[in-house]
Amino acid sequence: MIDGRTRLLGLIGWPVAHSLSPAMHNAAFAEQGMNWVYVPLPVPPGQVEAAVRGLVALGFRGANVSVPHKQAVMPFMDELSDSVQALGAVNAIVVREGRLSGENTDWRGFLVALRAGGFDPGGRRALVLGAGGGARAVVYALTSEGLPVSIYNRTPARAARLAHDLQKHVPEAEISLLETLPSDLKGFDLLVNATPLGMWPESDASPWPDDVPLPPHLTVFDLVYRPRWTKLLRQARQAGARPIGGLEMLVHQGALAFEMWTGSAPPLEAMRAACEKVLMEG
Ligand code: NAP
Repeated sequence: MIDGRTRLLGLIGWPVAHSLSPAMHNAAFAEQGMNWVYVPLPVPPGQVEAAVRGLVALGFRGANVSVPHKQAVMPFMDELSDSVQALGAVNAIVVREGRLSGENTDWRGFLVALRAGGFDPGGRRALVLGAGGGARAVVYALTSEGLPVSIYNRTPARAARLAHDLQKHVPEAEISLLETLPSDLKGFDLLVNATPLGMWPESDASPWPDDVPLPPHLTVFDLVYRPRWTKLLRQARQAGARPIGGLEMLVHQGALAFEMWTGSAPPLEAMRAACEKVLMEG
């Protein structure tokens, strides 16, 4: 029951109606019997500063930040974590004693999901497709773990910018840029799709061509989570490779934020089930 003691969290974005996060976090609070609530907060461009300052004024404990405000909130934070400075994006805000901390749990969510899926990053090589916000989080995560990463993006200049920006924060990062998709994946252990190719309603699309086999030793991580079994993940499964879906990254970034806000261990199963339910309902 919402009452005078209910603690508040929200999602700042524009639009926010399609997000799985309210269902995921409210399911977690219900599961733990916690008097917290997580609400969608649609914030139009131009209102970002007022919205962020409003979090403090209204006694919010924190918020998630979604597209298109992940960069726009940065100037209004009192502190930025190292990963936010490297990635240039905040996806979670924690309010502590009136101060706003900008955090990023996307990259850690990716790493936790990768490990939970059975991939041990030690001594491996990765190919990342895409160079947008998701790819930044992935490349930061992998290079921070010491993996050499190759990037292929439709627009090569954007991949070059990503590499340049990240190398300022992770100087030892080994990043190489590919002009074309490689003709085989023998030299790689991990393939990550960080493009929207395959996302509903274009569910028949894949970033990987049908006529180039995926080797069975490969782990294939698709950031796309709608549908759960993307064409790329189905290609991986058919080839005997290990598929990991984007829902795991979403759930783990949410779980990390839940822990930061509440100090409690996140109920992962309830969070995953709530997301699956929303996805099944369409
Ligand atoms: P973004 O910043 O807009 O970047 C999109 C990237 O995909 C760019 O590199 C773009 O290339 C490339 N791309 C777009 N359309 C393409 C096409 N038709 N063919 C080839 N490349 C194409 O998007 P984002 O935020 O990184 O998100 C990418 C995907 O990851 C989305 O589906 C998103 O939902 C998902 N995602 C999931 C999670 C999760 O928690 N599971 C987290 C973040 C993102 P150009 O540079 O050439 O435009």
